[in-house]
Amino acid sequence: MFVRYAVLFCMTLLLQSPLYASELNDSIKQDYDGYLEDLFDHFHRNPELSLLEFETSKRMAEELRDAGFDVTEGVGGTGIIAILENGEGPMVMMRADMDGLPVEEKSGLPNASRKQQQSPITGDAVFTMHACGHDVHITSLVGTARQMAARTDQWSGTLMLLVQPAEERVKGAKAMKEDHIWERFGTPDYALAFHVNSNDVAGKINITEGSPFAGADTVDIIIHGVGAHGAHPHRGKDPIVLGSQIVLALQTLVARELSPRDPGVVTVGSFHSGTKHNIISDRAHLQITVRNTSQETRELLLNGISRIAVNMGRVAGLPEDKLPEVIISDEGVPPTINDPETARRLKAAWAEAMGGSTVIFAPTKGMGAEDFPFFSTDPEITSVYWQVGGTPLEDFEREAAGGAPVPSHHSPLFKIAPEPSVRAGVESTVVALMELMGSE
Ligand SMILES: [Zn+2]
Ligand SMILES: [Zn+2]
Repeated sequence: MFVRYAVLFCMTLLLQSPLYASELNDSIKQDYDGYLEDLFDHFHRNPELSLLEFETSKRMAEELRDAGFDVTEGVGGTGIIAILENGEGPMVMMRADMDGLPVEEKSGLPNASRKQQQSPITGDAVFTMHACGHDVHITSLVGTARQMAARTDQWSGTLMLLVQPAEERVKGAKAMKEDHIWERFGTPDYALAFHVNSNDVAGKINITEGSPFAGADTVDIIIHGVGAHGAHPHRGKDPIVLGSQIVLALQTLVARELSPRDPGVVTVGSFHSGTKHNIISDRAHLQITVRNTSQETRELLLNGISRIAVNMGRVAGLPEDKLPEVIISDEGVPPTINDPETARRLKAAWAEAMGGSTVIFAPTKGMGAEDFPFFSTDPEITSVYWQVGGTPLEDFEREAAGGAPVPSHHSPLFKIAPEPSVRAGVESTVVALMELMGSE
């Protein structure tokens, strides 16, 4: 009885150990201390804005070439494709995005960025910061490259490492795809990616079998009214009143038409009309963001917006040729959807290699979007996207005790713990690649 208890106790200890001992874990720790720590420090001090990732890209190309990969630069702008062919087997793509943000870092860290760049949007010099943790992604990708190159006897297939620009502006993945990466380098059997997440405890692997990121669309509605004097409303058609009715009617899409178990968002973020107190304007402009986690929800919401806007115009008595115009941008992003079977496979592999308590499922509460699905749709590629925790447990405990809150992504205070994040980033990636390409 006691023996059985003791064995169980030891197993529990082993499973819960934060640093699950293994040869791979030791090797990554050594590489972190000897190499990746300085590399992360370099990237953290030198963030570059979306589409301007010239130095980051150059350094990544050097690193991946040094690791033994066949590197092609200038893919879809500053993007990189690095390939290591290692015999028969599947082709697996791993993606890391590399852009920073126009944020002045106030984390108080000794390696806080003081870098500035000229904003391609405003033309002004702005401070830049890795305020989303993409420095963890690229450092981990180099760590992964070095591990995989040192372990070619343990796997076979083709490994494609993809370094992506401009994720924050939802442009980079599309640009690389439109640069014909699949035609030029081969279409992968699997596409993988991770994001470091300040909402999860450092080193944890947060994985869903569903959708880790929402799809996003932007919609503009132009309402054509009939202008008149504010004192003579009967002579006009007021686009502000009609616009207000449309805004309220749009709320019923999520509340009344979408199944309560399907998430969706319709947010009118901007409503512009009019110039003066006593003038009924002849135009109103609504700007809307629409979020979904499935193609069905996407169609329901977008069709519903068009139906409501056009028919509310009819309700207001507008002639057929002056009904509201609904413009759906072609810059929408599909939802990120994990392949459930592959997600389960990787979960089991991570639990075995890194310890059962390392692998968690903490669903996101928001409907943030990612441009990764440009790599996993059209053509459909089996994909898994996971999150790697980046905040030390003590920081959550401090917050729970009423102390300073854990800073969110894109905040000037954003701060992740590099060592556990990069090590778990490398380890989870290598374990996933070995699961999909391993020779045993
Ligand atoms: Zn971000
Ligand atoms: Zn990000």
